[in-house]
Amino acid sequence: MANTESIEVIIKEAAHEDAGRGIARLSIDTMKALGLVSGDVIEVEGRHKAATLIWPGFPQDTGRAILRIDGNTRSNVGSGIDDKVRIRKTEAGYAKKVTIQPTQPIRLVGGEQYLGRILRGRPVTEGQFIRVNILGNPLTFAIAKVAPKGIAIVTDSTEIELKETPYEPKEGKRETAGDVHYEDIGGLDRELQLVREMIELPLRHPELFERLGVEPPKGVLLYGPPGTGKTLIAKAVANEVDAHFITLSGPEIMSKYYGESEERLREVFEEAQENAPSIIFIDEIDSIAPKREEVKGEVERRIVAQLLALMDGLKTRGQVVVIAATNLPDMIDPALRRGGRFDREIEIGIPDTKGRQQVFQIHTRGMPLAEDVRLDEYARSTHGFVGADIALLAKEAAMHAIRRIIPQINIEEEIPAEIIDQLRVTNEDFIEAHKH
Ligand code: ADP
Repeated sequence: MANTESIEVIIKEAAHEDAGRGIARLSIDTMKALGLVSGDVIEVEGRHKAATLIWPGFPQDTGRAILRIDGNTRSNVGSGIDDKVRIRKTEAGYAKKVTIQPTQPIRLVGGEQYLGRILRGRPVTEGQFIRVNILGNPLTFAIAKVAPKGIAIVTDSTEIELKETPYEPKEGKRETAGDVHYEDIGGLDRELQLVREMIELPLRHPELFERLGVEPPKGVLLYGPPGTGKTLIAKAVANEVDAHFITLSGPEIMSKYYGESEERLREVFEEAQENAPSIIFIDEIDSIAPKREEVKGEVERRIVAQLLALMDGLKTRGQVVVIAATNLPDMIDPALRRGGRFDREIEIGIPDTKGRQQVFQIHTRGMPLAEDVRLDEYARSTHGFVGADIALLAKEAAMHAIRRIIPQINIEEEIPAEIIDQLRVTNEDFIEAHKH
């Protein structure tokens, strides 16, 4: 019987519009081969197992064994883009009760109904994570328990219990980059492609480079104006390859660790090597590594020398990558931009209209938008806005909508999920937010 078989498929990223919906798109011919129809539940087996709903794939995927899933599902499966996983049709029962825990301390007032509505119709299993975006706040919840055990679909009569205590994963926790995925980055498709080739490939397949005798890059410099997504990119790559992630901020190194900066740098590189694959992210690198002739202090000179030595000393064959970000690439010591150090550079520029529309789409994901909301229009009228500006504008619009209902609220501490159901973010909210 065809429909009990498993088939090997290759994971690809989800369309931006599909992210967060808990669905997987599978090429039509592969659906047919497994006897699947739209809405069936499949089990995806990578490093872990996860269940998801099947939707028909895009026409361009026909003839290719491709499964498109979003970052949330990729995390649940423990596999990344271009990885092979096995999928099989599975029978899912209906959930009587689902116990959910947040992954960070947050009080979600009326969260049971809210999460129940989001999960309605979706298959859940114990240990799975669900990412929701509540009015611009990305929150991750863990499915702590499902009754009856196994894969079960949430229905209107499923009892949802939301605990307040944060979820403790069974396996030891790594120092990760949080929950950022490629689908959360808008307008940077070409740049992301470069980043993936330069950083992701060597981190995931060091043996390829070894065999070809090619030296993988140790350092990549991302440069461009603040708020364009440089940090986001570094976090997303680290998250997608499940790499150990360490952030260093240039100014912080110079102030907080003044006098201990070199020691701190050495420690960070050591930690990265011990926990490889790792990504070290140095934000605002221009502040620790300005052109040496412009540097007066002996200390600064020594820090630059230390950084050079540490990068030259990296013998991990692509298993430790240093990503540095700056908006002043010309301020950086040229020695750091030479071969074997930050010798790859990617410009992360200000988004164009299409890019801005993508960023608007990302930051309004999960928001209950009124019908008069025109994201394409806002994208056209926000010339010069970077991603961070758009994220802020979307959040402001949501806050404006909330204030219509409750004037006094601090959404960072307490989210009134029960009223979110009644809420619509309208065109006027966006227009008001744009004025600020
Ligand atoms: P940078 O490191 O370039 O200064 P960040 O990556 O820290 O900028 O961006 C700050 C915030 O702005 C992000 O957390 C995100 O919410 C938003 N943002 C920036 N760029 C983008 C983008 N290209 N797509 C989606 N969101 C973005």
